[in-house]
Amino acid sequence: MNTIGTTILGYPRIGPDRELKRALERYWAGTTGEAELLAVGKTLRARAWQRLRDAGLESVPANTFSHYDQVLDTAELFGALPERFTRLGLSPLDTYFAAARGVQDEPALEMTKWFDTNYHYLVPELGPGSRFTLSGTKPLDEVREARELGIETRPVLVGPVTFLLLAKATQPGFRPLELLDELLPDYAALLSSLKAEGVEWVQLDEPAFAGDRTTKGLNALTRAYHVLAKAQDRPKLLVAGYFGGLGRGLGVLARSPIEALAVDLVTDESFVDAVAAEGALRDKEVLAGIVDGRNVWRTDPDRALERAARLAGTARHVSITTSCSLLHVPYDVEAENLDPRLKSWLAFADQKVAEVVLLGRALRGEQVDLSAARAAAADRATNPLDAAVRERLAALKPGDAVREPYERRAAVQQESLGLPPLPTTTIGSFPQTTDVRKARAAYRAGTLEEAGYVAEMHAEIDRVVGLQEELGLDVLVHGEPERNDMVQYFAEQLAGFAPTEHGWVQSYGSRCVRPPILHGDVSRPRPMTVPWARYAQSRTAKPIKGMLTGPVTILAWSFVRDDQPLADTALQVAFAIRDEVADLEAAGVRVIQVDEPALRELLPLRAAGHTAYFDWAVRAFRVATAGVAEGTQIHTHMCYSEFGEVLPAIDGLDADVTSIEAARSKMEVLADLSAGGFARGVGPGVYDIHSPRVPGVEEVVDLLRTAASAVPAQRLWVNPDCGLKTRRYAEVEPALRHLVAAARQVRAEL
Ligand code: GLN
Ligand code: ZN
Repeated sequence: MNTIGTTILGYPRIGPDRELKRALERYWAGTTGEAELLAVGKTLRARAWQRLRDAGLESVPANTFSHYDQVLDTAELFGALPERFTRLGLSPLDTYFAAARGVQDEPALEMTKWFDTNYHYLVPELGPGSRFTLSGTKPLDEVREARELGIETRPVLVGPVTFLLLAKATQPGFRPLELLDELLPDYAALLSSLKAEGVEWVQLDEPAFAGDRTTKGLNALTRAYHVLAKAQDRPKLLVAGYFGGLGRGLGVLARSPIEALAVDLVTDESFVDAVAAEGALRDKEVLAGIVDGRNVWRTDPDRALERAARLAGTARHVSITTSCSLLHVPYDVEAENLDPRLKSWLAFADQKVAEVVLLGRALRGEQVDLSAARAAAADRATNPLDAAVRERLAALKPGDAVREPYERRAAVQQESLGLPPLPTTTIGSFPQTTDVRKARAAYRAGTLEEAGYVAEMHAEIDRVVGLQEELGLDVLVHGEPERNDMVQYFAEQLAGFAPTEHGWVQSYGSRCVRPPILHGDVSRPRPMTVPWARYAQSRTAKPIKGMLTGPVTILAWSFVRDDQPLADTALQVAFAIRDEVADLEAAGVRVIQVDEPALRELLPLRAAGHTAYFDWAVRAFRVATAGVAEGTQIHTHMCYSEFGEVLPAIDGLDADVTSIEAARSKMEVLADLSAGGFARGVGPGVYDIHSPRVPGVEEVVDLLRTAASAVPAQRLWVNPDCGLKTRRYAEVEPALRHLVAAARQVRAEL
């Protein structure tokens, strides 16, 4: 075959029923052995290849399976796992898992977000002394395994430049990209061995070029593909750029001696013009990524084909593919019990594979029936608007998003709340006990009726409020026992959202999330959290902090509509939250926290998009929160300490108090905040809830003294890094006890 033809860039691997998740967790728990785990992987791979072949793809990808993460696979493949794991004397599989999850005294590799998706990869650690050796055979093994099923495949690899750009330097000032010439011979050796195995095409992913890259980065891209193209006896090379346009990387790749290039024509529609205008692609095959790999909407065939058709004449051959790997969408929409009309608008991974095949035939001029796809697109265009929501958005006045000046609010709040200096609080959730989970599941299944469920939740709230009073915390929470997830809980109650039943997507390792589908105009039919907050407030004289999820985070962890700007959708969600905030306030809740842990997540990959993003993200938060009286205290929460480019936005949110992660970085973040001119209340976390470790009183005192030297004491709050729901009471109780004792001690020093 001279061309790749229709294909997808990658496929989900966790299993349609999360088989891999369960197998991994059984293996980690020691209840099954390696053979069982490997067998589950083998079954899942066979299923995937057979489905992709039977669906009619002309090229089937391999090596898209992973026991944990494809970047970790790459580090392992090239012998680049840190020595702290390889010297443990474990089996290769357990060494790999040690790097992914850590062992007793050896912390795992860091985990971080895969570009602007909700998938997380493990960050390779590289230093000036790092050396590579091609040490694994996973891509070859998968090719052989597929061949036994009679299927020829195209192995997918993380490209060398992206791999190095994603790595973390083990020494300050060192750039892992400097290791390129060390690494390329090993990639070349791998290519030769794949060729010897009879592989015709290899896919190398270079998503790093969807972000801004320096000249050094672009030069590395040039060098990498000139060197690899010269490898002896190599397969043909397909380089895939995705999660946006390739920027200057397009010209570099077009002029490099590779045989094919996959481009994302969905994320940035204007990128199709750049590709069409790129003269140097004429000797290459171009894979037009016109089926959205990251969202769940059925493709409008005419719009998609129009984009692909514009590339005719630009390339030697144009084929159809997905905009990125299908790793980011669930398997099969047929498994869902959704409203039939909504369902007809959706395409999950299997449906997207069928779309690629169909559009590929249409592009070749074959007679294909696009009527169902056209009808769905036309029907979706008549998605009913909610007139009331639209009117409200249109009537938004700048003043709606503006509160009284902070200084004034702070004085009024101090007067009415009467909190001591260094007030203590928590971030919202308390440990979720088995009883709580059971009650929620039984209520959901219909075996526990409403009254019984409410009684159980009230009992839990009583317990949690009682505990906080006993511990001596100043601002209490109800503990969030009724919430499965901080986004799904709201999506289930808001109009315009549809939760899925089986729509699991891998987040990292064995962790999956089930993003709800935001399909229509958003509104709040009835209060979502008010009865719980009101009940909690009725049980204590101390202030209860109401707990909501912010508009940006709700969008970031949902599948969002693509038929209107994200800014408009954000504003709709913001108004729904604004209604909830107003009702909480009316119910006597005087402190309200609106969590925005995903504020950084939606940041566009290119700096050119940052200002516009901040404008709408900050406006959405302010619309959600600015409707309250000056005496109502608005908190927000973020789960990280490296703000970087997000810093100005945090100030813009105009929250009275912002809690952030700070325990692990020992309060370093406060200097950044002060330098950035941040002058509102701040609660730097003093208890690292990611670890089972209980901090001692002295340790918290030290952190607070450090914090008090960076922030005036009247603006400083005392709280853990994040919610407590993943911890056990055996850790949480003593930790909070120490936190309160430390706050009292430092208060006395003021
Ligand atoms: N209020 C949430 C909780 O405590 C916040 C979670 C988060 O920041 N991810 O669980
Ligand atoms: Zn958090």
